[in-house]
Amino acid sequence: AKVQAHVSHAVFNPAMHEQAVARFQLETDLRRAIERQPFQVYYQPIISLAMGKITGFEALVRWIHPTRGMVSPMEFIPLAEETGLISFIDWWVLREACTQLRIWQQAFAKDSASLTMSVNFSGLHLVQLGLLERLDQVLRETGVEGCNLKLEITESGLLKNATSGTEILQELKTLGVKLSIDDFGTGYSSLARLHQLPIDTLKIDRSFVSRMGNEGESLEIIRAIMMLAHSLEMDVIAEGVETQEQLSRLRSLNCEYGQGYFFSRPVDSQRAEELLAAQLQW
Ligand code: C2E
Ligand code: CA
Ligand code: CA
Ligand code: CA
Repeated sequence: AKVQAHVSHAVFNPAMHEQAVARFQLETDLRRAIERQPFQVYYQPIISLAMGKITGFEALVRWIHPTRGMVSPMEFIPLAEETGLISFIDWWVLREACTQLRIWQQAFAKDSASLTMSVNFSGLHLVQLGLLERLDQVLRETGVEGCNLKLEITESGLLKNATSGTEILQELKTLGVKLSIDDFGTGYSSLARLHQLPIDTLKIDRSFVSRMGNEGESLEIIRAIMMLAHSLEMDVIAEGVETQEQLSRLRSLNCEYGQGYFFSRPVDSQRAEELLAAQLQW
């Protein structure tokens, strides 16, 4: 029966019911997926703006769903965090990406000794016991140096773990790994806290970069973030660089790194390797 429009304010409406069913279906699929591991890691190059060359990659997970095809992480990562399945996914991606990095470092010899791999790391892992040992084990087993691995933790993910955060981050640093704050500018970082955290890199959220061209305000925000980062001796990566104009502006602000469709979309490992081999210059 068709439901009247006037009940649409009810606490539980048909649309919500449908949403709940869809969510449950996705959760069931995700649990099944984890047994069969139909995940794939895509890689998006990160470019040193001073050199115009690829200096690393960000690993981005893809889920190949049996009937829906490729599902966006925007859809399943939040669900994976709610259900705890994120632990499986992130550790799988980390191991996979480190294994790949080692292969590329060896294949592309001395040029690529400094090649880095950035891996998204849910803030939820920061409170997990044995985190340090587990990370150390992945580094040892894959042969990757800590300094070539960057863990990207979102601004909100860091803040949720406000009390225990600082200590565990300091411990992570003993492995030599680099730490980045992802989506910087979208959360509510307390600036007072920021300088206490052992962070190496700020990633400016795409929303600021995309508005940089036509809104003076976003340009000013980026300028301010850069000044803040540099005064705290952090590097800056601008996400979502899509145009030559954005690239030029970022260069003139002395932004260290860029990432975005202008350089390359995230691609599979084979295509990423071709990009590396091509020695592209921007
Ligand atoms: P993120 O970490 O902010 O990653 C950047 C996202 O922006 C990626 O989306 C990337 O494909 C997209 N992107 C890059 N350049 C451009 C551009 O120039 N224009 C536009 N419009 N988009 C661009 P993706 O791969 O769909 O990932 C979405 C989010 O899912 C990531 O955002 C990250 O928060 C999360 N995620 C992805 N993989 C993992 C993972 O292995 N673990 C965890 N915990 N989260 C992940
Ligand atoms: Ca990221
Ligand atoms: Ca980001
Ligand atoms: Ca994001």
